[in-house]
Parts: sequence; C-alpha cells; structure tokens
Amino acid sequence: MMSEFQHIIDLYPWLETFKDLLAPKCHDCGVKIGEKHLNGCDTARCSVCGGQHMICGCEEGEADLWLGLMYLVEHKMCLDNGYWCRDAIYLDGEEFIVTSPEMHRLGLRMQFSKVPGFQMKFHIPCTQDDVGAHADLNRAAMQSQKGNKPSWMEDSLDEIEDSQ
Ligand SMILES: [Zn+2]
Ligand SMILES: [Zn+2]
Repeated sequence: MMSEFQHIIDLYPWLETFKDLLAPKCHDCGVKIGEKHLNGCDTARCSVCGGQHMICGCEEGEADLWLGLMYLVEHKMCLDNGYWCRDAIYLDGEEFIVTSPEMHRLGLRMQFSKVPGFQMKFHIPCTQDDVGAHADLNRAAMQSQKGNKPSWMEDSLDEIEDSQ
C-alpha cells in the first residue's frame, strides 16, 4: 500500500507526516503523481506566483505537478509553523475530541439534528502530537493571504463553519 507513495516521500520527506492523506491521482484533473496538472485544474499552483493557476493570470505561469497531497502549500506551511488544530464535540459540557472521520460525521449529524446539550467546535489549536490533531489549513490559508484580506472575513468564516 505504501509503496506507491514511497518514491514521492523519498523526494519530499516532509510528506511522510501526511502519508495517510496521500492520493495517487489529483482529485480534480486526475493526473498521476509527478505529472503536471491539466489546464483548468482547481488544485494546480502557478509556477510563477504560487497562487491558484486557474485564476492568477500570470502569462508565463505553468501548472505545477501533482505530488499526492491536496493543499500542498498549506500543509507545508502548517508543518513549518506548527499550525495544528482539532475538533471536539460536547455533550452537557463533557468534551470528546474528534479522532476519526466517523466521529466527525456523527458530530455534524447531531449538530444538524439540534440535539439538546450538544455542541461541536472546530479548529481548536493544539500541538502536532495531540490526539486528533490535523493541519490547520484555514490558518495557513489566512496567513498566505494576510494583508489583502479584511479581518471581518475571518470572523464570518468561523461563523459559517460553526453553523455547519
Ligand atoms: Zn490537477
Ligand atoms: Zn501566477
């Protein structure tokens, strides 16, 4: 199972941290690891500015390669800066850290059903070693766009997430 990703992990050892998230093909355009994203791929980054290739508008810019991980730049940023977070569900004040996709789905279902005494929280800062820790991609995305994004947008984003 791991062997198909070993080559890319050898080239980019930091991907080892996210090996459970690696995928053999781009989720959007379907190219294989090491291949250049197709034109119009949502995931492709621009070789000139590092932004989203589909919308950045750089004339010389080319799509980058699929290296097996969605939000590659943001994951690296989280790793370098220690941006980790986790989610938790609360029932009558008791905290349960979300440790699996099933638990996450259960939380969303309970929230949707408005179970009394139930609450779900997202993006609670933590360390990489904490149970349920995952890369805080939102924080990385904010960071990479810092300066041209008004602070109120961060607030409204949290609200949207919390009301999901
Ligand atoms: Zn792609
Ligand atoms: Zn560009």
